[in-house]
Amino acid sequence: MNFPWPDGVRAAAAFTFDVDAESCVLAHDPSASSRMSLMTHQSYGPRVGVPRLLRVLRRQDVKATFFVPGFTADTYPDMVRSIIDEGHEVAHHGYLHEPMQGIDAAREAEYLDRGLEALDRLGIRPAGYRAPWWEMNWHTPDLLIERGFQYDSSLLDGDTPYRLHGTETAGDLVEIPVDWGLDDWEQYAFYPGWTGSGVIESPRKVHEMWLLEARAHHAESGCFVLTNHPFISGRPSRAAALERLIEDVRALDGMWVTTLEEIAAHTAGAVGELRRVDRIEAPGALATNRE
Ligand SMILES: [Zn+2]
Repeated sequence: MNFPWPDGVRAAAAFTFDVDAESCVLAHDPSASSRMSLMTHQSYGPRVGVPRLLRVLRRQDVKATFFVPGFTADTYPDMVRSIIDEGHEVAHHGYLHEPMQGIDAAREAEYLDRGLEALDRLGIRPAGYRAPWWEMNWHTPDLLIERGFQYDSSLLDGDTPYRLHGTETAGDLVEIPVDWGLDDWEQYAFYPGWTGSGVIESPRKVHEMWLLEARAHHAESGCFVLTNHPFISGRPSRAAALERLIEDVRALDGMWVTTLEEIAAHTAGAVGELRRVDRIEAPGALATNRE
């Protein structure tokens, strides 16, 4: 692999946090608001998880990227300010963590603009976007480019960032790919009757798995992007394991641990090639059979 990292940098790592809080539950099922315990499972993120994770990041002297749905920003403005005050990046993650699958461009544009307005109320103009549930539509890149976003981090087709050409528009933005293997949801998420695998993994196992991936990215000059949720990974033993992971990743020689905004800015300047991600359809006969 031959990605043009800055001089002296061998690979990059970004620790990212999706501060979904109640939004993802309410988007999934508005009547969930009647479930007091479920609501507190989610509010643990902004109330306890974020402050703990900010302490971890401060101790490790690492700047991170926090994707904040507009509804979270409206509900917990002081929590969002505390993230900003620590020098971290705040980026866009929908308004109510809306389900994006199959919606048209006009509806998606509404969600994007509503999220932008909520962040703007706190004086934040986000450089980056991450689709709720990493669910991009083919029209999404154009909507992001039209709104001046510099990067997205929701697609899954690379080990390093690339410049993504608009689908219809002539512009581009940086894509910083993610991976389900580097998401705490798959490791720890569980709530009876709502979500999760029912298997809650040991933080020791999770640390081992993620460090293996970080070392492999380091060996191959890749870009390690970890996605955590404060309501999940803000719990004590998970945050402790995450801190050990950050320590271990920082110790890798030439590893650039930084925000996605920094990685995107570097990529925009250092990569000349624009990549189109083409839509692939089912062969005609199969498509017809489904109609
Ligand atoms: Zn999310």
